[in-house]
Amino acid sequence: MHPHLLSVDDLSRDDIERILGRAESFAEVSGREIKKVPTLRGRTVINLFYESSTRTQSSFELAAKRLSADLITLKAAGSAVDKGESLKDTVQTLSAYDPAAIVIRSPHAGAAALVARWTSASVINAGDGKHEHPTQALLDLYTLKRHVGSLEGLKVWIVGDVLHSRVARSNILAFTRMGCEVTVCGPPTLIPRGIESLGCGVRHTLDELSSADVVYALRMQRERMTGSFVPSLREYAARYQIDGRRLGPTQLLMHPGPVNRGVELAAEVIDSPQALIAEQVESGVVVRMAVLYELLAGRGAPSAARADAEPEPQPA
Ligand code: ASP
Repeated sequence: MHPHLLSVDDLSRDDIERILGRAESFAEVSGREIKKVPTLRGRTVINLFYESSTRTQSSFELAAKRLSADLITLKAAGSAVDKGESLKDTVQTLSAYDPAAIVIRSPHAGAAALVARWTSASVINAGDGKHEHPTQALLDLYTLKRHVGSLEGLKVWIVGDVLHSRVARSNILAFTRMGCEVTVCGPPTLIPRGIESLGCGVRHTLDELSSADVVYALRMQRERMTGSFVPSLREYAARYQIDGRRLGPTQLLMHPGPVNRGVELAAEVIDSPQALIAEQVESGVVVRMAVLYELLAGRGAPSAARADAEPEPQPA
C-alpha cells in the first residue's frame, strides 16, 4: 500500500477489502466500555483543517485518540495561517514534532499531494477542494457492505451537484473498483463533461431512479458555486429532490452530510429507516482508525521506540 492516502486511486481492491475488514475489527473496540487500543502509542498525528468540517474532523480526532496517538488539531482560524504563513511553512514547522501522520482538509484541489512532498509523515487527504475525499468513500463502502453483504453488481445512483463534489469523484472510483454499477444524475450544468471516463453512466432526469439499489444524494455546494448553475433551489428540488414519492421502499439512501433539508432531500426520507446517514457518521471513526492503522502501524516508528514496545497489538 502507498505511504499516503491522497486518492482512492492509491488503493487496490485488495487494499480496500483489507481496510474494511480492519474497520470491522475496530468496531468491536468501539463497542467496549474503554474504547482504546495502544497501537499508535507514542506516535503523533496532526490534523490540519483549513476548511470547515464537523464529521471528518471529529472522527479523525476520535480515531487517533482511540489508537492512543498524541494528537494536535490545527485550524486555519487561530493558527499562524491567519498571519499569512504559507501551507509549506506550516507543514515544515509542524515537521519539527516528527509527526507520523498529517491529516489535511483544504479548500484547494491538490493540497494534500503538495503536503506529501514537504513531509516524511504519511499524508491523509481529508478533502481537497473539488478533488477527492477518499476516507469518505471508504466509510460509505463500509456502511453499505454492512447492509448488503456483497457490493458486486450493486446499482448505485449518485444524484445532485456532482460538479463541485469531491465525494462524488472519490465514490465513483471506489464503488466501481468494488464492482458496483454507478450512474450519476443531475442537471447538465452540475455534471462535469467527460465524467463517463471514470466508468459511470450519466442521466439528467430521475426517470429511471427505480433501477437503483442505492440512492446517494449530494449536497448542493452553494459555497463553491460562483455562477448560476440552477435557475433556483426550488426548481432544482422540484426536479431532483429525493422525497418519499421518488425513493422506492427497498432502496437505501445515503448522503455524506451536511444535508440541506428540503433541497436535495425531503425531511420524510432523511428520517426514514432506509436512510443510512447517521450510520455513515458512525462508520467514520472505525474506518479512519483502520486507515491510520494501515498507514502507520509498523511503519516508520523510531527504532528505540520499537525496541521496548510490546508486540504489535491486534485491534480486537
Ligand atoms: N462533508 C462532505 C465534504 O466535506 C460533503 C459536503 O460537504 O457536502 O466534502
